[in-house]
Amino acid sequence: MPPKSKLGQNFLHDASAIQRIVAALGDCSSRTVVEIGPGKGAITSLLATRAKHVLAIEFDRELALRLRDTLPPERVTIVSQDVLDFDFAAAASATGERLLVVGNLPYYITSPILLHLAASHASLQSAVLMVQREVADRVVAVPGSRDYGLLSATVQLYGPVERLFTLPPSAFSPPPQVHSTVFRWHFAPRIAELQIDEAPFLAFLRQAFAQKRKTLANNLRAAGSTPDRIAAALTQAGVAPQARAETLSLRQFAVLWRSLKAERAASPSEAAPPIS
Ligand code: SAM
Repeated sequence: MPPKSKLGQNFLHDASAIQRIVAALGDCSSRTVVEIGPGKGAITSLLATRAKHVLAIEFDRELALRLRDTLPPERVTIVSQDVLDFDFAAAASATGERLLVVGNLPYYITSPILLHLAASHASLQSAVLMVQREVADRVVAVPGSRDYGLLSATVQLYGPVERLFTLPPSAFSPPPQVHSTVFRWHFAPRIAELQIDEAPFLAFLRQAFAQKRKTLANNLRAAGSTPDRIAAALTQAGVAPQARAETLSLRQFAVLWRSLKAERAASPSEAAPPIS
């Protein structure tokens, strides 16, 4: 069965990397683990010996059939489905606990998968994920660094991330064009602590990072806020007038968002609310 490059099929064959990925989940002997994209079962086979149960979500029907033939059904359930349609909340409620997630992700849909996991955060405990190295650099980046941006802020809103290790293309068959990095994401959302409303705050982050070359104030102006309100909110958040979004921590974004929200509430007659 030739690998399907359009499905991101680069199969891991480095035994030590497989051990490290499964070990990074911690003790999962009493836990259900969801694996995204089991492929030929390189990680799944080891997981089956460690986890209470594995739910393996594979989009490729041929691979799913093959996995059903080779893995013990009492330990592994193969779900032939697009992971973006997988209902983590339903799976967590069926098992009665938050889920662990693992996956050597299909790189063509890395961001949508990360956003799907973020949206499912209440059903998840932690995830150990392999992504393209440059994506991992962005996920774990801190404010003010070269790689910090919308992806970093969005992922980190849902809990701390930790880079684990990087693999060269030769660890896979066929080898991809890029290096790959494994990171761990512990789901501990900061929504209550930052006193924000989730959906409008995510929209605000998208506005703040809309154009990399513009200052934060200009991005917010383009999204409809007035210069006076932006200036007042930046002062309240202790942010310089010419600052770029790439330098702000989530805490500063939250102060800014709350300040703009309060000002909008105080002048409800203003047209076109910038922040929904
Ligand atoms: N876990 C295996 C390994 O490490 O060798 C395979 C990893 S391979 C990088 C990505 C896997 O995700 C492939 O098996 C591919 O068929 C599967 N896949 C691609 N798109 C998917 C989707 N939308 N939902 C679920 N699985 C998908």
